[in-house]
Amino acid sequence: MTEQAHNEYNAMDDDAFRVMVHEWIVENYPQELRFKPYRMHWDEIGDWYLTLSKKGWLTPAWPAEYGGMGLDANKLLIFMDVCESYGVGRTPDMGITMVGPLLIQHGSQEQKDHYLPRILAGEYIWCQGYSEPGAGSDLASLQTSAVRDGDDYVVNGHKIWTTLAMDANMIFLLVRTNKEGKKQEGITFLLAPLDTPGITVRPIINLGMHDEFAEVFFDDVRIPVANVVGGENKGWTIAKALLGHERIFIGSPKFAILAMARLKSLAKTVGLFDDPIFVERYTRLQLDIDDLFATYKRFVEVLKRGGTIGPEVSMLKIWNTETQQRLTELMMEAAGENGGIQDGIATDDGLVRPAGEVIGSRPSTIYGGSNEVQRNILAKAVLRLPG
Ligand SMILES: Cc1cc2nc3c(=O)[nH]c(=O)nc-3n(C[C@H](O)[C@H](O)[C@H](O)COP(=O)(O)OP(=O)(O)OC[C@H]3O[C@@H](n4cnc5c(N)ncnc54)[C@H](O)[C@@H]3O)c2cc1C
Repeated sequence: MTEQAHNEYNAMDDDAFRVMVHEWIVENYPQELRFKPYRMHWDEIGDWYLTLSKKGWLTPAWPAEYGGMGLDANKLLIFMDVCESYGVGRTPDMGITMVGPLLIQHGSQEQKDHYLPRILAGEYIWCQGYSEPGAGSDLASLQTSAVRDGDDYVVNGHKIWTTLAMDANMIFLLVRTNKEGKKQEGITFLLAPLDTPGITVRPIINLGMHDEFAEVFFDDVRIPVANVVGGENKGWTIAKALLGHERIFIGSPKFAILAMARLKSLAKTVGLFDDPIFVERYTRLQLDIDDLFATYKRFVEVLKRGGTIGPEVSMLKIWNTETQQRLTELMMEAAGENGGIQDGIATDDGLVRPAGEVIGSRPSTIYGGSNEVQRNILAKAVLRLPG
């Protein structure tokens, strides 16, 4: 697709663009994969990755010169909104949302030429090796070591909570290359094929009984120095920049709005709208969602004007994820003794699975920086409270 074609997307009328994306998605996204309550594996969602790739719509935020759609912030938000509303599942997208943008900004020409086309083609599927058993919120404490030996680093250590590592063939990871001085200044960003000798991936089963993440062990793994992005001991700054981008997307109110619609169907089915206590709690939640939507729109407007979003976006992540949890808990209560039925409860608007909803909403207050840590950010960087 040419750069001109991409500029035409941005020049399109918003509604026309929305209709075009919606129509193509309805035509091409498999009906049976809509609104899946778990992260799908490659064998379920891989074809969709490749369909998007063929269409040239896999990487809406990448610049056109690197094979992306080159959408501006406004069109990108419309694109995401259409996908979320239709219940399009996430592909294994670490290459699209993290490695690709990072290489575009910080990679060498050779790295861009090698990795970007392979991400677009679905040849390289990535996982993120940041967290360790002793380094999650305090990520800078990570201990996985990389010791220089000729043209390689020899890597030893243990990563954990690595989402969909079992589907990936590449990992991007943070390693310690210097134990002296400030811990943030001894961290390096590395890329490695997962079939490198010495790497072992062990799946972890989550609360919903899905193997969505894994542990990854490194045992004398040789990774070429050429696989460093951004220079030795410079990994922290670039990794941190990526985490900031996540928060506006985690803040999208769409999931809460859709979950509210399911709560409404369920409450109608079980006759709870005659119960004043339920109605009061339901109304409170609706008002929480209205607040969430208003806050989200405010951040979106900043992006649309080409501005940058500051630490106050942590507020959005907190409010969204906690509203979702309150909502799913009310859904569970509303379902009463049927809340745990795995096949779901039939309503006029389809099946509702309260237990799956509760379980599905739990991790959101942990990933992308836990909500306690987001509160610390607000306290320090926004409210300027003493540390
Ligand atoms: C679904 C899911 C997918 C994930 N995918 C990945 C992935 O692909 N790659 C990856 O590298 N990681 C991934 N993670 C890991 C995630 O980044 C960490 O779980 C997160 O950073 C929290 O770290 P932790 O689990 O070690 O908890 P800890 O940091 O040990 O925190 C434990 C508790 O203490 C609280 N706490 C910690 N520090 C403070 C503080 N200073 N002040 C107040 N409270 C504090 C936390 O909020 C939390 O409640 C994933 C996690 C989840 C849940």
